[in-house]
Amino acid sequence: MIKTEKILHLKSSRGRKVRVVREHYLREKVPCFSAGCQAQCNNEGKVLPADLTHYVVPDVGVVLDFLEILEFREIQGIIFTQTACQAVQHNKGRRQYNRLRNLLRDPRHDCVLFANEFQEYSYCPREKGECHEKWQTRCVYSASVWYYNHLAGLKDIVMVTEDREAVTQYSSLYSGVYVISMQEYLHNFWLDVHAAHELYSSITQAALGRENEGSEKEYIEHLPSELLEAGIKSGRYVQGILNVNKHRAQLEALVTAQGFSNKSTELSRDVLVLGIKHRNRAIHGDSVVVELLPRGEWRGRNTALTEAQGEERSAEAPRSQPMPTGHVVGILQRNWRDYVVTFPPRDTPNQSRNSQKILTVPWDHRIPKIRISTQQADTLQDHRVVVRIDSWDSTSLYPNGHSVRILGRAGELETEVQTILVENCISVSAFSEAQLKEMPVVSPEQPWCPDPGQVQARRDLRESHLVFSIDPRGCEDVDDTLSVKQLPHGALELGVHIADVTHFVKEGSLTDLEARARATTYYLADRRYDMLPEVLSSNLCSLLGGVDRYAMSVLWQLDADSLEVKSVWFGRTLIRSSYQLHYELAQSLLNGEEPDVPELIRLPPEQRDRNLCDLTQALHTLTHVARHLRAQRDRGGALELEGVEVRAQLDSEKNITALVPRQPLEVHETVAECMIFANHWVARKIQEAFPHQALLRHHPPPRQEHFSQLQDCARAQGFSIDTRSNKSLAGCLEQAVDPQDPVVNQLLRMMATQAMSQAMYFCTGAVPAEDYYHYGLALDRYTHFTSPIRRYADVVVHRLLTAALDQEIDRSVSVGSTRDMEETAQHMNTRNRAAQHAQRMSTELFQCLFFRDRHPETDSDCLADAVIYGIRDNGVLVFVPQYGLRGPVYLRSRGGEVVSVATDGSCDWSSGTLTRNADHITTSSVSGSATFRLFQHITVCILVHTNPCHADALNLQLVRHAPHKSQSMRPVGGHTRARLVQEVQRQAEEATLRASLRPKLSREEKQFSQSKQPNLYSLLEEIQELSLMSSEASAQRLCATTA
Ligand SMILES: [Zn+2]
Repeated sequence: MIKTEKILHLKSSRGRKVRVVREHYLREKVPCFSAGCQAQCNNEGKVLPADLTHYVVPDVGVVLDFLEILEFREIQGIIFTQTACQAVQHNKGRRQYNRLRNLLRDPRHDCVLFANEFQEYSYCPREKGECHEKWQTRCVYSASVWYYNHLAGLKDIVMVTEDREAVTQYSSLYSGVYVISMQEYLHNFWLDVHAAHELYSSITQAALGRENEGSEKEYIEHLPSELLEAGIKSGRYVQGILNVNKHRAQLEALVTAQGFSNKSTELSRDVLVLGIKHRNRAIHGDSVVVELLPRGEWRGRNTALTEAQGEERSAEAPRSQPMPTGHVVGILQRNWRDYVVTFPPRDTPNQSRNSQKILTVPWDHRIPKIRISTQQADTLQDHRVVVRIDSWDSTSLYPNGHSVRILGRAGELETEVQTILVENCISVSAFSEAQLKEMPVVSPEQPWCPDPGQVQARRDLRESHLVFSIDPRGCEDVDDTLSVKQLPHGALELGVHIADVTHFVKEGSLTDLEARARATTYYLADRRYDMLPEVLSSNLCSLLGGVDRYAMSVLWQLDADSLEVKSVWFGRTLIRSSYQLHYELAQSLLNGEEPDVPELIRLPPEQRDRNLCDLTQALHTLTHVARHLRAQRDRGGALELEGVEVRAQLDSEKNITALVPRQPLEVHETVAECMIFANHWVARKIQEAFPHQALLRHHPPPRQEHFSQLQDCARAQGFSIDTRSNKSLAGCLEQAVDPQDPVVNQLLRMMATQAMSQAMYFCTGAVPAEDYYHYGLALDRYTHFTSPIRRYADVVVHRLLTAALDQEIDRSVSVGSTRDMEETAQHMNTRNRAAQHAQRMSTELFQCLFFRDRHPETDSDCLADAVIYGIRDNGVLVFVPQYGLRGPVYLRSRGGEVVSVATDGSCDWSSGTLTRNADHITTSSVSGSATFRLFQHITVCILVHTNPCHADALNLQLVRHAPHKSQSMRPVGGHTRARLVQEVQRQAEEATLRASLRPKLSREEKQFSQSKQPNLYSLLEEIQELSLMSSEASAQRLCATTA
């Protein structure tokens, strides 16, 4: 090892330049991480494949400016030098540096790090008078030459640099080491990766655009980080996440204190930030530091209704009460993501065509306009485009960014669906070849069969147990199966057998990484994106009837009379499901009807009768056990929140005729109860084995103040709701029924659901034990074990359970750290929230598409009955049962006019006043006064408020102060909804047809055609879900039913 000195020029956080001399050790052996190594390097971990045509070594400038191009998985064989990595760390900050580190860690990307400055022969000390950039370039070139020699000249090396001089100087020195520019590189080697070329030109345009910017200050400078930190410590400044109010994006933002601290004090620590100037270039989601203004300048929040505010929480801030108000003085961490923007139509066509700065409007109201320099301004108008923000200097009124890819023309179904995915950070590219290579090969000629070693190692239940599944009709991915058996001496054995996904998905494999990144299967209104490759989700891990499958099983021995659990067995099994039942079939067997069971049709009558008798007996026993389990939880206070109409799961149903039963079947409950039981017992098991590293799911009790809307509404109807415990709440909701109006109970349950906290994953070591409780299910410990095909949490839990069982044999078995597990839990919580948002947005999209082309005056579909469930300053909140919509109805117009009601109930606008009370609101005008009360039925007209830059929104307008007449003729839901779906699909097909006749804009327009047959079932389901609960709550419900 050779010792030398290295001089570093670092920048302190105050911006001062510091010269540091460091001892620097050089080694002969530094791993090359190439599979083509000729020198037996110690290459551990990721290596570059040997069969590539070349390796590429990007220069410092290229890594700094074009990292996002190097992130394309298509670009293989990248060697990042230590020199370039350090430059990113010093010049671009933590976020960009982490991005590079993640890239290097990610096995799906073909890139490695070469410690060139530690390698004796590639290191070059800086020469006297040599400028820093030139020296860095020389280092990178020297590293390139080293690789060429180290690999014995067998591999061409391409160094990419934007330094013209370097190209001339180095390109002819060595025959196997090419030195070219980024543009040439992309052109020569990756001509067909169009997206990379487009991104290249967009980034270079953006850089050009920044060069000629003004120098006048638009915002005050951010304070240096030492001052921010000192200010936070001393209590002078408050640190938190900036949260822009999407209804008043220009005006109102809150800074919410960071961390998972005590919730009750959190509210009082929110700081209001008013106006764009006070926000000082912070963007929604950024971690910021604010300074409070003097008390005299504190303001209150606005509480009048604005567009689409129906989703508001029940706990309202007191009206106009002044609260801590401040301004942003610094930003600790940017939290920028990819944004969808719309290029505005251009009204000045005679401007210069080249290189223009366009102010684009983000789809998300909370994000400020972004300035994009582009040469494609004409082509891009009215298109939705994905952009990234590059910078926001104090001299610039708006942030600068560059475009990444084009989604398509605004307003078209595919564009809008892709927009929803990007806005929720959902990336669902097809599974890569390398990932699919990890999967077993199966074909009709070569079906999968269990491995003899596995047959030995597993408990074989194929002959001993009658196993069956109960799912929605046509379900392809069967996660779970059940068994129930009489044991000698009268005891009962209940069994839950879950697909053994972790046998096929090894921890750390490419498939595992992809599944972890997705964290869940995504269900949109008309399509789904699977978490696992199809060969697993609908074949090897699907517990189909009549075939051998690996399972993870839980078997309970229950006392025959008391049904008390006497013992539990967990373990890996081999099963063969005998029946793949659907809910209706199982229920009709229970009801004593004699339906055709497909599995039995071909049997001789005697055999058939015997088997049918066994199956029916098993279903009855199962129902008996489930009733007992449910009663047990009910005594503990389990909640039934949804005003149930539909209970089935949201996935994989393709069969349109399988319309959802309006009455819930008991067998739904039975299956759900068994799954809840299994999840609970697995939670106990893994928590006992790993008290600090178990992954559980809890549901915190709601905050009492969130119940105020529910209580006000219930009181208006003469009910009182005791919300002190889940048990009392469940009891009161059960009682609060208006025999004249079923919507009343539905609405009260909806409000109760809205008041709920969200159920979340957590790691046991990161949360005090008293917070493990699951409020909704009334269980002290709970987790997700029963759906490993579509939820990553269950995959993690399966691994924990396996480790717990291994530990019984070998005490030394351990699992990862609390910190890692908590990080996984938070990641899954974030992805689940994104999945719910995307699902809700896609349903809203379909609703808008349905109403968009209808004429409200002539089309009777646009008129509907609505029920008032909330009173606001300038209007009411209503629920439209027929379409499952919620939203505001204004009683005062923007111009200040109020609604006046004629004697026949018809409504008009005239000048007058508005008086709000707790349970009613009254308008007064020359033509008299009219009062709108909670739970009153009114007639509304449904209009679509179109907006070229954002999502369309439904708009409800008051038509008559009376119930909608034809309403009583129609059942709730039913035909109308089925028609809605068909209609929207027909429109979308026509639009696709029109689009195919238009000249193509780009490949991206057609990029996502992986959606399967439109899934009517799930849309119907979702529309109904939406009617009943907020997005948060629908997740809980989904979990309770699939749990
Ligand atoms: Zn080597």
